[in-house]
Parts: sequence; C-alpha cells; structure tokens
Amino acid sequence: MKYIVALDQGTTSSRAILIDTEGNLISIKQKEFNQIFPNQGWVEHDPMEILETQMEVFEELLSHNNVKAEDIISLGITNQRETVIMWDKQTGKPLYNAIVWQDKRTSDICQKMKEDGLETYIKENTGLVVDSYFSGTKIKWIMDNVEGVKSKINQNKVICGTIDSWLIYNLTSFKSHVTDHTNASRTMIYNIKNLKWDKKILDYLEIPISILPKVQMSSSNFGTFKYKGVEIPINGVAGDQQSALFGQACFEDGMVKNTYGTGCFLLMNTGNNFKLSENGLITTIACSSNDKVNYALEGSVFIAGAAIQWLRDSLGLIKNASETEDIANSIDDLKDIYVVPAFAGLGAPYWDMYSRGAIFGLTRDTGKDHIIKATLESLAYQTRDIIDVMQKDANIKLSSLKVDGGACMNNYLMQFQSDILNSDVIRPDVIETTAMGAGYLAGIFSDIWDEDKIISLQKINKTFSPKIDERKRTKIYNGWNKAVKRTFNWIEK
Ligand code: ADP
Repeated sequence: MKYIVALDQGTTSSRAILIDTEGNLISIKQKEFNQIFPNQGWVEHDPMEILETQMEVFEELLSHNNVKAEDIISLGITNQRETVIMWDKQTGKPLYNAIVWQDKRTSDICQKMKEDGLETYIKENTGLVVDSYFSGTKIKWIMDNVEGVKSKINQNKVICGTIDSWLIYNLTSFKSHVTDHTNASRTMIYNIKNLKWDKKILDYLEIPISILPKVQMSSSNFGTFKYKGVEIPINGVAGDQQSALFGQACFEDGMVKNTYGTGCFLLMNTGNNFKLSENGLITTIACSSNDKVNYALEGSVFIAGAAIQWLRDSLGLIKNASETEDIANSIDDLKDIYVVPAFAGLGAPYWDMYSRGAIFGLTRDTGKDHIIKATLESLAYQTRDIIDVMQKDANIKLSSLKVDGGACMNNYLMQFQSDILNSDVIRPDVIETTAMGAGYLAGIFSDIWDEDKIISLQKINKTFSPKIDERKRTKIYNGWNKAVKRTFNWIEK
C-alpha cells in the first residue's frame, strides 16, 4: 500500500493524517501545544515546539499504522495562517517566538499605516484590510524590537516566513525557503494581482525582500524531506481555510464552503476574477495548481460555536453542545425571538465594534429552550448575512453551501441553514476537509489524482434542502435584520 501524508499545523494542535491512494482517510494523530501570552493582547507559539509536535505526530502516525517511509508517495502541508517566524539561516534557530495571527501588538503600526493613507493601496493590491491579524506588521515588529535582528539581516543571516515555510525549511534540512500563493496572500505584503512581493509596502515597512520565501503554486514541489534515508517530496501546501475550500472540491466559481467552529469561516471561489468587496469581505488567493491561480472572497463570523459555548459555560443552560439539536427540535418555531451574539461587536457586513449581544422578543412564556434555539439559529442567520454580500460582491449566485467544522454535525442547524439560504447545504462524510485539501494538492502533483477524480471522491453524508416557503423565509430573516440593527452602537465610543 502507498499513502499520502498531510501535516495539519493548527493554532492549538499539530496533526498528521494518513490518506490512501483511493482518497480514504485512514488515520489521524494529534498533539496539542502551549499557547504563550506574554502581555495583554499578545499571543505566541514556540517554533521548536511546533516543529517537535508536528514530527511526533508524523512518527506516531507511521508507527501506529505500520507504514514505512518508502510507502509515502508525498507530503502535503496545511497550516494556521498569518502567524510568522524569523530564524537564523545557518543554524535554523528562531530569533523570536512565532507571533500568532490573533496577536494585537502591531495595532499601532496598522493605525499609522492608515494615517499615512495606505488603506486603499493595500486593499487594491493585497485584497486585505489593514489589520494586525496579517503577517507584514508582525515581521516589522520583530525587526524593530528584537535585539540583534537588524544587524543580522544586514549580514544576510536571517530569513522569515509563515508556519509552512518554517516547517519546510526544517524538513528539507535548510534547503528550501518557500511558501505557496495562499499563505503569501495573507501577509499584507504580497501583491495578489501581479503575484509578487509588493515593493511599495515592503519599502514602507522596511522589510528587505531577501528575507522572504519564494512563492510557488500550492500544488508543486517544495523540496524533499529526507526521513530514515528515504526522500519524500513535499508536493502540496496551503493555508488552512483555502485548504478546506480545496478539500471540499470547491473548484468552480460560486462554490462556497463554511467552517462552523468557534467562529465561522466562509470562502467563495470566484475563479480567475480578482474581485474587491464593497462590504468588508477580504479578497484572497485560493489554492493554485496546474499554473492556474484562482481568487476567493472570504468573510468570517466572530462568534458562532462560541455562542453555544456561552450557553454551556456562562449561562449553564446546556451540558454539551450537541444537546442543542434535540432541544431545538422539541419546541415549535420561534415567534419573533432572536439572540444576536455580538459579544465582540459585529464583523462583516456590519462592521460595528460598538455593537453588543442582545436577546429580543421575550414574552412571559419564553423559556430557556427558546433562548437555546434562537442562539443556534443565530449561526445560520450570520452565515446568510455574509453569503448575501458575497453573492453581491462577486455577482455570482450561490450554487450550494458545503459545510465542515464541529457544529456542522448539528442537523437542526444545517436544515435551518438550508431554509434560511434557500439553497442546498451539503455535509461531507469526512469533515477533516482542511487536512484532506493539503493531501489532495500533494496527490495532484504526484499524479495520483486530478480534480475530476477528487470530485468523484467526495462522499456526501447528508444534503439538506430548503423546506420553508419564501414568505416565511423573508419574514423570519427580516426579523433577524431588525434585531441586528437594534444592537448597533450599544456601548459609548
Ligand atoms: P475550532 O476548530 O474552532 O475549535 P471545532 O470545529 O472543533 O472548532 O468546533 C467546535 C465548536 O462547535 C464549539 O464552539 C462548539 O460549541 C460547537 N459545536 C460542536 N458540536 C456542536 C453541535 N452538535 N451543535 C452546535 N454546536 C456545536
């Protein structure tokens, strides 16, 4: 038997996944690692711990399944996006911890960029909004604040990159300093129109181009991992959300996936059209293969599964998340009751950081089950808010919604999602779509399969089709819109 191995380096854990040549997921190994919070709003990871946990799960996967190095055709890598590491080119030693995507320490640099009038240029050339979330200002921070880094850069001794670059550099014994289009498109220093590091932004941030990795197609050869004397090619790389879009076989314009986790991450493939959003969505690069670069629109919901955690941990209304399905099914349709979980303000398409959560429509007979059901429904309403603007921005009609992430296992939620969107919602058999995406990319370059074969590999667990009529859909969605508007500007500026 021969296999593809996908490494999935996430924000809280490192995972390794074994896929056979028929595209079946055979086995998964996972290890958590430490989150480091040195200051308020700062989030770091230890680069060596990332590497070690990733190697440990790789070795465990092989030994547990009795797979030898020579049985592995190629390796795919998917990773937490935007997080950056800077390291010594010769020794491979990190010069500072990884600064994680959640880290807010560079908000001031971003504020200054806005004051200096860079917002429009950044949006038109990187597809992004100016935010500390992305990698560029994190690189600048390390250069300006970690002692000795600047002089080492001047001596040409330093390189940097996102997590994929860090892993590849180490796996290839310091030979390949590379990344892929999807990861580059999250740095805020990469021009996604001409597919080059952007000179104007690099000059502004004083980042020398010499420290940055070479950018390649997501499905291409990134170097060779020599393991126990065997040379294993690394043939696929993508950032986690784009990898999930690929893993869901969303290869055509208008195909959308939504990951229902702590938050929701929605990506719409817009084909080779570079589209800028009028509604605060981000434009990014989808996985590239066969010399073809596709674009995608991306929107996220800040609080999705986290609202279910709030029911459990803060209100104590449920013991576990999956209970919400039976509870929602056990009571009649809600009459004008809405929960707006704007706990951290509202993101796309509203962008109101002064909004706060609220419950509307309470009457004397409202009970806890109504609150639970309304909270669950809020995940579907927030998803529709984003899909509506995606369709407008891209001028493409949604064909169907492919789902993954923990909360997609909730059948009530998926049916309600289909009802409120008036579109099919498709849940795959294997919801490990992020890792599968990286595996598919590696397999394509290794000639194991092509896009048609991947489409045929997609096994559907369940398709949810709309069951309510347009009048009802309009009525309940209008109610949601009214509720959301009433939460605007809640706290004083
Ligand atoms: P993440 O990767 O962001 O940690 P997961 O994909 O593991 O998230 O999904 C976990 C989230 O989904 C949690 O916030 C949890 O509350 C929610 N969740 C998990 N199962 C269900 C369910 N059956 N119904 C509703 N929400 C669920």
